[in-house]
This record gives sequence, structure tokens and C-alpha cells, in this order.
Amino acid sequence: MTFEHFSFDPRILARIEAAGYVTPTPIQTRAIPQVLAGRDVLGLAQTGTGKTAAFILPILQRLSKGPRGRVRALVVAPTRELAEQTHQAALDFGKKIGIRSVSVYGGVSKSSQISQLRRGVEIVVACPGRLLDLAHEGEIDLSRVEVLVLDEADRMFDMGFLPDVRRILKLTPNRRQTLFFSATMPPDIRRLADATLKNPVTVQIGEIAPAKTVSHAIYPVPDKLKKALLLAMLEQTATGRVLIFTRTKYRARNLARDLEKKGYRSAALQGNMSQNQRQRAIAGFRNGKYDFLVATDVAARGIDVSDISHVINFDVPDTVDAYTHRIGRTGRAHQMGEAFSLAGQDDAEMIRAIEKLLGSSLERRRLPGFDYGNFAPEQQFQGAPARKTSSRSRPSSRNNARRNNDHRSRRRRRPSQVSR
Ligand code: AMP
Repeated sequence: MTFEHFSFDPRILARIEAAGYVTPTPIQTRAIPQVLAGRDVLGLAQTGTGKTAAFILPILQRLSKGPRGRVRALVVAPTRELAEQTHQAALDFGKKIGIRSVSVYGGVSKSSQISQLRRGVEIVVACPGRLLDLAHEGEIDLSRVEVLVLDEADRMFDMGFLPDVRRILKLTPNRRQTLFFSATMPPDIRRLADATLKNPVTVQIGEIAPAKTVSHAIYPVPDKLKKALLLAMLEQTATGRVLIFTRTKYRARNLARDLEKKGYRSAALQGNMSQNQRQRAIAGFRNGKYDFLVATDVAARGIDVSDISHVINFDVPDTVDAYTHRIGRTGRAHQMGEAFSLAGQDDAEMIRAIEKLLGSSLERRRLPGFDYGNFAPEQQFQGAPARKTSSRSRPSSRNNARRNNDHRSRRRRRPSQVSR
């Protein structure tokens, strides 16, 4: 595929070529058509994936037509570096269509930013604090913003910008297109996404596919701690669409309800539901209304939803066949998927059978920071010792921020955590 596929204005295309871009990156391939179509997008991707061009190019395409001299696109970013980088991309790609962009952040004098704003701009790329200052001083009018981008939303949360972001949202029109990017999805970020996005398309980007697209892991845990472990796990993991399996209809319904209560957009899919209800649940999962579908094996048969980032066996299945069916729903189309199984002592035999089928032993994981009480996950399923800390696991993003204020090293660390 090439950039010509997207039917950009030839003047934008010329700038894409001048930048040396030949093939769109995966996030560009998937997000650009959706942004061009005016859809809200939830992008689960970190820096380095080409996400800047994924939103700035279709924004420029929109701005190439229509009025000039007023703020039509607003990009909110956590750091000056990111704001500056996005502003530069807007200038580079927008050069031939004469789109004006200004970067707005603190720590430098306001006067140059104000004079650029007064001359008239179509794009503002800003950090939250200075943006609010200038908006309150009447120097920036956000009332006619058509597209709002929240970039690196999880970092904005880590840095304490969420109240400011909420204030900024209120200054923009309700009828706008919103593009929301985040590398991780803790509940606060998910709630913010829910509150800002309308019927969004979720685009999740993993690493370029290795031969094996699904990684499997077991989390040994006593039954009574399963729910708590699942919630802790979700808080630590960047997920896209997640399919969760339970043994019974009753457990599916209850778990979906509990997840919903915790702020995770979830639906159940189980045999006691009418055909209509089931279709609504599947459609909602497909179109992004729900991030989590909690299903029984029978009810999940035949659902065809692509881009499932994680399959979680809340209950280990009764047969090896069921395991492969469940897992087959993630890691499709060369995307990375993860399969987690919450396994109790009673599941030892089934785990052995699954390992036999896979031809390798499943990685045992202990969730860092989770209170297991007297239970020792390492001592479960003797013969294949649990790893104490998985290299794929990590402390929650908030703790991460506290421990590590150096954004660059955080950023470096993310790809292996998110692109699974
Ligand atoms: P980003 O994730 O937006 O920070 O982009 C990471 C780097 O990839 C930047 O240096 C971009 O200029 C570059 N880049 C983005 N898209 C492409 C592409 N389609 N082809 C080549 N380089 C790209």
C-alpha cells in the first residue's frame, strides 16, 4: 500500500513524498481512513509507531478546505517536546496548502505565541497549562474547533493534567471529532475516553508480527482472588478489545456487571440472553461501545470480531479444544495477541494437557504488587517453576511515573510492554 491510496490533496501528497514516506505504517493504514471519514478514534499506540502522521495528515486534508484564520484543530500533548514535534509535522505536511500552526506551551514567553495567534492559525498544538492561560486571557478561541486530538493521554494523566484536560474539553464544541491516543488504558483513562469519544473506532498497534502471534501465560491464583487479580491485571495492562471466558453463564453475567461497575465498558454474552441481546452485545464489542466481552464457550462460538488484543480465561476451559478455540480469537491477521489464563490448583491437569498440545510449557506469572495472601503462585503446578516477575509485566503507569520522571527512558520502556 502507498499513501496515494488515501486520496489526499496532491499538495499534501507531495509533502509526504518530500518527507520520504513511502509505505504507511500499520497505525496510519488503519487510522487514516477512519479519521478522513470523520470517525472518533481511540488509538492504542505509543510514540514511534507513526501516530503523529496518522492524525495530522487527515486533519490537514480536512483543513485544506473550508475557512481559514480560526482554530479548527487542537492537539493537546503532555510535553513541550511532543507539542513541538507535532507542530513541526503540521508545518511540514501543511506547507503547500498554507495551513498555519502554532505551538503553545509554558516556560517560554507568551508574546510570540500571542502574536502568531492574533495573525490567525488553523492548528494549535498545546500543552494544557499555557493553553488554558491563553484561552482565559481571550487569546485563543476554541469554540469552533472541529477536530480535537488528545495525545499520550496516559502521560497527561501521570503528570496530573487530567483536570486541565477536562476544562479544555469544555471550551471546545460538543460536535467535534475526537482522536484519543494512549499507550496504556488504566480505568481513569478509559473513563476519560468514554466521556470524550462518540462511537469510536479502536486502533491498536502492536509490534510487527513475529512468527508466533499469540503469547500464552498462566496466572496461578486461588479462586476467591480471581476477580481482584483480573482487575489489578487490567490496570497494569494496555489492552484493546478483550474477550474474557468464564465457565458458566452466571459467572459471565456477574463478571461483566462487576467490570462495568469498575468503569470498564463491558457486556456479557451467554446462553440465557435473547438473540437480540446477543447481537447487541457482539455489535457493541465490534464497534467499540464495549471494550470487554465476557462470554461462555457456547455463546462465543462463531463471533467474528477482529483485533482482539487479549483473550483472558477467567476460568480455564474443560477441554484442550475449547482452549484453542478461545485463543484462536486473538493474534489474527499477524497482530500480536495475548492469552492469559487464571488457573487454580484444580486446573493442573488441564494445564498439562494444554502444554502438551502447544508443545511447550506455559509461562507462569505472578502479578507484581498483587496481594496473594498466603498463596504462593510459584509453588503451583510443580515441575514448571513460576517466574517471580515477568519481563512483560510492569507496575501501574502511575507508579511508573513516580519512579521514573525521565520521560525518555519511560518511552523507551513502553514498546515492549504495550506491543505484545
Ligand atoms: P511518531 O510515532 O509519529 O513519533 O513517528 C515516529 C517516526 O517515524 C518519525 O520520525 C516519523 O517521521 C517517522 N514516520 C512516520 N510515518 C512514517 C512512514 N510512513 N514512513 C517512514 N517514516 C515514518
